[in-house]
Amino acid sequence: MSGFVLADAAREFRARVQACDRIWISVHESPDGDSIGSALALFGVLRRLGKQVVAVRQPPFPPAYESLVHASEMVDVAQLDTVFRPQMLITVDVGSFHRVGPVADVVLPETYVVNIDHHPGSNGPDRPCRLLNLLDTRVASTTMLTYLLLREAYPGSIGPDEATCLYLGLVTDTGCFRHSNTDAAALRVGAELAEHGADVGHLAEDFMFRRRPAALQLLAAVLSSLELHAEGRFATLDLTQDMLRRTGARADETEGFVNYASSMAGVQAAALVREVDARTTKVSLRSSGQVDVARIAAAFGGGGHRNAAGLTLAEPFAAARALVRDAVVRSLSEEPSPA
Ligand code: 5GP
Ligand code: MN
Repeated sequence: MSGFVLADAAREFRARVQACDRIWISVHESPDGDSIGSALALFGVLRRLGKQVVAVRQPPFPPAYESLVHASEMVDVAQLDTVFRPQMLITVDVGSFHRVGPVADVVLPETYVVNIDHHPGSNGPDRPCRLLNLLDTRVASTTMLTYLLLREAYPGSIGPDEATCLYLGLVTDTGCFRHSNTDAAALRVGAELAEHGADVGHLAEDFMFRRRPAALQLLAAVLSSLELHAEGRFATLDLTQDMLRRTGARADETEGFVNYASSMAGVQAAALVREVDARTTKVSLRSSGQVDVARIAAAFGGGGHRNAAGLTLAEPFAAARALVRDAVVRSLSEEPSPA
């Protein structure tokens, strides 16, 4: 669902940008290709308009994305100069506003906040501000919405670098145009971005499939933890600190691991349970068809989309794993079995 008309939103966006000199653009914590791609494309366009733009980097920043244009110019959230508050804060793909961390504190009642997102329920800060909420849950990626907005607001503004960043978000959020969020509109935008010079021949390979040997070892360890529950309808994979230590891989090299569990025939829901530290566990949930993992994640304070969601629990690994397993199994028992 979209709560705005694109032409009106683009006019409003342009007017607000015109009124502001200092603009911050923030990704969410543990940023992915969609958030980073949206932020860096906006950064390029707004800077060419002569704005003082800061693209805010949030940890952990995946090293693979360092090669993107403007990535090295991003300012770490811990290094922000909050004396010069931005007049406008643009948040991209954040889902829930609290996922911008300390950046939320710069928002004053007179701050323009532009929230560009495709996560259901994403509605900006819960404190007073001048909010433009550009939420469209139908688009496959936030970069797709960012592209449509920029195309309308600033025709001709998208060069090859921006196109590459925007295409990257489409590639990562659709799993290379494979997931159920892939549709004609997403493919059309992908084609337009290719026409604008996006590096379509290399992006998927470089960002989705190229792994260091240590990361492939980690994948082997994670796959060997595979367990099936609910008569094979729910698959879990574990990722522990011990596996990271043994293989020498990093936690940010696990992009796509959960898809191995959800790719199994008969599996309707899948989880990758990741031990962050002794008291913190992160869970990635995926589903096919009618199983709504966003609802399950929300019950634990997480969020996301119907078929791809996540949550963070202040619980040790084994306890968190059991909690999530029981919740998913319970939810599956409410689902009709396929005929
Ligand atoms: P992933 O499993 O790839 O980290 O995330 C899948 C989806 O769930 C993404 O749309 C992401 O924004 C959302 N998500 C992941 N972790 C969290 C979380 O801790 N809180 C919220 N609200 N959403 C999350
Ligand atoms: Mn996204």
